[in-house]
Amino acid sequence: MKLSKYFLPVLKEVPAEANIISHQLMLRCGMIKQTTAGIYSWLPLGFKVLKKIEEIVHDEQIKAGHIPMLMPTIQPAELWQESGRYDDYGKEMLRIQDRQDRNYLYGPTNEELITDIFRSNVSSYKDLPLTLYHIQWKFRDELRPRFGVMRGREFYMKDGYNFDLNEKDAINAYNRHFVSYLRTFNRMGLQAIPMKAETGPIGGNYSHEFLVLANTGESTVFFDKTLLDMDTDQGKLNYYQSRDIEKIVERFTKPYARTEDTHDENLFMEVPEDCRIESKAIEVGQIFYFGTKYSEPMKAFVVSPDGKRVPVHMGSHGIGVSRLVGAIIEASHDEKGIIWPEPVAPFFAGLINLNYRDDECIKVCNDLYEELGANGIEILYDDTDERPGAKFAKMDLIGLPWQIVVGPKGLAEGKIELVYRRTGAATLFTVGEVLEKVSTAHKALLEA
Ligand code: ATP
Ligand code: MG
Repeated sequence: MKLSKYFLPVLKEVPAEANIISHQLMLRCGMIKQTTAGIYSWLPLGFKVLKKIEEIVHDEQIKAGHIPMLMPTIQPAELWQESGRYDDYGKEMLRIQDRQDRNYLYGPTNEELITDIFRSNVSSYKDLPLTLYHIQWKFRDELRPRFGVMRGREFYMKDGYNFDLNEKDAINAYNRHFVSYLRTFNRMGLQAIPMKAETGPIGGNYSHEFLVLANTGESTVFFDKTLLDMDTDQGKLNYYQSRDIEKIVERFTKPYARTEDTHDENLFMEVPEDCRIESKAIEVGQIFYFGTKYSEPMKAFVVSPDGKRVPVHMGSHGIGVSRLVGAIIEASHDEKGIIWPEPVAPFFAGLINLNYRDDECIKVCNDLYEELGANGIEILYDDTDERPGAKFAKMDLIGLPWQIVVGPKGLAEGKIELVYRRTGAATLFTVGEVLEKVSTAHKALLEA
């Protein structure tokens, strides 16, 4: 992409309405624009990151054997009356009427809708286990939307629902989600710690939240420091070897880790004092097992192997896809701007032409742009007539992993500069060397 043809409305000033760094940086980078309280437009740069995160979420869910689909944002009130949640959900639910005075709502979550789909189509244990999920916009009329996309009213969420014959199979599904979530967040460069959690309005028997430590987080968490050293990357996995998956869950749930709601001070005191951590954190995902809470009232039954009609055991599993954009920035930035982890970066490298009037600079930049592009590498080429200082500041602000700097002085000696944004390390190379280094780094990313 050539910057002169792109839409990147970078702001010079720190917007007054934003009081945490991720919100400030997203506005300054022209990633989002608030439409009204808690509702945002995703401008091109923000949209790219959102899609990269969404892709990783899809990929890990599909690896875990879960099946993607898409449900609508608007749901009929009747389904929620069946489960009893139409009245219980409270003021966070946006209720809507159509011209015939029929009642609808903008979905805050989808347990009822998916249970209705299931009961209309599945009637035998032979079709189980089944996990369906989608990534769709949700609406919750939060009392105080804040922190940009981290607590919006409209937000993008992955929500998945498992249907199983009995509790044991449903726990296997819970464990698959647990492990796939560890991997999902890890791939985005985040350390998300699973913690025992309260079930809230989703209801159910037990639950874990996945939390990213950040002093701007809204959750308070208590955990054993040893969790920070635990490796979430376990190589290739067969998600239907349920014992292997369970072992990973056991390893991660052994050390003490709880949110404020489930915190037990006496148990926490059993953790050695130098390992006890209390921190603020951002909730990026949550998983629930709730048995027959929805299948019973909504009559989602299957015929079991011994011929009885039994309600299916269910769970639901959410990831805050749009919240993750903010959470990743909270976890990865410096005083100059964002530092994107490579898998979610909007472009892999930025290309800066220091003299837009110099024929040699233009030629080298165009060649690099063409060649890297032909290798499938996304480049943002700053071909504008801005001053070098402004170009550097903008590249640092938007935080692409690599910066390639082409100027007449270097070119006189046959060299251009390659900068690694995370460390600031800058080295002079020939054009051929830069092509090779960037291509190799990109290949490593694809193979990871
Ligand atoms: P919170 O406690 O932060 O209000 P929640 O527990 O009500 O969230 P869940 O029902 O668990 O939310 O939704 C799944 C995921 O969706 C959450 O883990 C979070 O990452 C994301 N999410 C929830 N509410 C919002 C929101 N208002 N804005 C952005 N993301 C949200
Ligand atoms: Mg939650």
